[in-house]
Amino acid sequence: MSKKDKEKSSEDPKIDEILESSRRDFLKKVGIVGAASVAGAAAIYSGYRYEHAKSDGESVKVLTEDNRLVLIPKDQMKDYKPDPKRLLLRGRDGIKGKKWVMIIDLSKCRNARKCVNACQGAHHLRPYEYHINTLQMQESVNTPAYHMPKPCQHCDNPPCVSVCPVDATFKRQDGIVLIDNERCIGCRFCMAACPYSARMFHWQEPLAAEADKGKEYDIELNVPQKKGTISKCLFSADRLREGALPYCVSACPNGVFYFGDENENAVTNGTTKETVNLKELLEKNGAYRLMAELGTKPRVYYLPPKNRIFDFEKGEEQEYKELT
Ligand code: SF4
Ligand code: SF4
Ligand code: SF4
Repeated sequence: MSKKDKEKSSEDPKIDEILESSRRDFLKKVGIVGAASVAGAAAIYSGYRYEHAKSDGESVKVLTEDNRLVLIPKDQMKDYKPDPKRLLLRGRDGIKGKKWVMIIDLSKCRNARKCVNACQGAHHLRPYEYHINTLQMQESVNTPAYHMPKPCQHCDNPPCVSVCPVDATFKRQDGIVLIDNERCIGCRFCMAACPYSARMFHWQEPLAAEADKGKEYDIELNVPQKKGTISKCLFSADRLREGALPYCVSACPNGVFYFGDENENAVTNGTTKETVNLKELLEKNGAYRLMAELGTKPRVYYLPPKNRIFDFEKGEEQEYKELT
């Protein structure tokens, strides 16, 4: 993913209003509205937060959202309290101009399960709670078995969304299907409606309930997780916001995952970091989508498990190093 993918600010007027008013409040508080630019960055104000860095005597240098360096009297710096609704608003809205897509190359999966572990770590899940899991597949007794990583398919026609009675789960303009755990009432209609069994229910107190206590809820990360609500793959929306690839995609040692933007017709391999033409990758490899006949239109494509250069070994965790 290129740097230009980084989302610096939302174009949504509601969000921009919040950002702008937060910025104005902050600048007013620290008394630097209209201050002259100075050289040398020491702190960053990125629209949602700023970080203190080296102090220059009684003043601190700050990089404003519009890339101006300004000098702030140190004794006037105060902690900035962000608008509590901003994460929910941008989480609902998504990242403008993007249509995220994931490609999973089944010919390379050796069941290393690094994708599973990375996802569980990021989302504070227990070892038996999954946003993605690797399944052992075999079409018939005459065809070889293979491993299949399976996250939420982020369907363009998602049956899970239409059954939610409280609008807790929704489809964003960038293709991601998310859940607002603060709205979710735990009815589990969405679980029943999902043909891919992609959703899980938090029957127990989440793993990190104590550690996450008091943390601001990030709808794009689903942390803190909440007992009695639903959780599932989020296409790592928080990572995309930062211009990075999803946790699972980056963690795979075997080059299984590609991720990118359908609008740019480009996807990047999480292991090799090579960016390739999306349409060519799909066409040349006979890509398919799971249960396409249902009309759910998944945003996850699979490349068939062809020409594999290793044997399927049930339950074994294998990594790329054996191939090199
Ligand atoms: S895979 Fe299931 S949970 Fe994910 S969008 Fe499709 S129907 Fe919804
Ligand atoms: S469990 Fe939550 S997200 Fe799913 S349908 Fe019920 S309220 Fe909506
Ligand atoms: S995209 Fe993110 S949330 Fe989805 S399975 Fe991968 S790591 Fe988990």
